[in-house]
Amino acid sequence: MNNAVNILEEIYTLFDTAMAGFSVACAKRCSDCCTCNVTATGLEIAYIRDRLTGGAWDAVRARLTGAGHTRRFRPLQTTNGFALACMEGRDEDEQENDPSWGTCPLLENGICTIYPVRPLGCRVMMSTTPCRQSGQADMPLLALTITTVFMQFVEHLDAGGVYGNFLDLLDHAGNFYLDCNGFQRKEINLRFVENLSIPALMIPPEHIEKTQNIVQSLGRMIRKSESKG
Ligand code: SF4
Ligand code: SF4
Repeated sequence: MNNAVNILEEIYTLFDTAMAGFSVACAKRCSDCCTCNVTATGLEIAYIRDRLTGGAWDAVRARLTGAGHTRRFRPLQTTNGFALACMEGRDEDEQENDPSWGTCPLLENGICTIYPVRPLGCRVMMSTTPCRQSGQADMPLLALTITTVFMQFVEHLDAGGVYGNFLDLLDHAGNFYLDCNGFQRKEINLRFVENLSIPALMIPPEHIEKTQNIVQSLGRMIRKSESKG
């Protein structure tokens, strides 16, 4: 588990490097994308708990207690599950996702209170124009491909673990800390879906060359995690 947590941190660092070349409108206190609908893996919850020190973890829990969201986006499939469905020609429904359902309770005065340890689902939010102006994120297609590839690898790293709404996962954090991959099936069926290994990377032909180095680096990280167990 500790090894996977460390590899996850390496993946986050690589993600920041890979996205640094894009010009974005994202700025401090621009936080319309910080909703109650963000998703994450169980491993990322374990990572947050592992990295937060002092009373920071208790502060996160306290913020959740007062959140009171009755409706959140709860994904029916993971990114790799979507890739598999595409490969098998399945067209599966997805849950509704509406930002008006609420703001992330970890946001304070427009600033994320756990910014350095936030999950990939938060990190992938970017836009070349302010979302408030256009009403949606404006994302270059290459950036979309890169974020999708990272989502696939982070899920792969936690294959057998769970994926779901970030706030739901935080609510069940004690279980992930003990054993990420051993999370109760009953709970998976209720609220979470199971992470899968990568069936195939979702990279369009025009982006294969541009993402080659990223894919190779991510592959090395995964192999490192598998060799150390
Ligand atoms: S994704 Fe949109 S709302 Fe989020 S920080 Fe960037 S511009 Fe702001
Ligand atoms: S965890 Fe932080 S970055 Fe993610 S949605 Fe909440 S406030 Fe925003």
